[in-house]
Amino acid sequence: MPKSSDFFECQKCGDCCKGYGGAFVNDHEAERISDYLGIDQDLFLSDYCDWSGRRPMIKTAESDYCIFWDELCTIHEVKPRMCKIWPFIESILVDTSNWAVMKSMCPGIRNNGNPDDLVEYVKAVLAQYERT
Ligand code: SF4
Ligand code: SF4
Repeated sequence: MPKSSDFFECQKCGDCCKGYGGAFVNDHEAERISDYLGIDQDLFLSDYCDWSGRRPMIKTAESDYCIFWDELCTIHEVKPRMCKIWPFIESILVDTSNWAVMKSMCPGIRNNGNPDDLVEYVKAVLAQYERT
């Protein structure tokens, strides 16, 4: 059975937490993060999120990093699904060559895995973090 470290080991560089438009949150995630912060969900959505159409996503600070980035993710336990599953995302199942594209953006991604094993592992991760 392939394991995460066959393909990826986070270098904690924060590059994936930088830039606009990363971390979308659904209702369940907004509730979990609000509870974690000890604030009302409406306050979380108004003060900690920007909106892309009708979808809230966590704000970017002036530093250009996610507002929850401080040398590490300060909401790690409750961070959104898309942050939890990275880099084992759906697009790998569409085309495994996307792995190489992502590798150019994420220094934690390794090249040394078998593509079939990678697909198997991505499916397992996605099954573990089904959309809620
Ligand atoms: S870009 Fe990759 S290595 Fe850097 S923090 Fe994000 S997941 Fe980890
Ligand atoms: S929620 Fe955490 S992991 Fe996700 S972008 Fe923000 S700091 Fe990074």
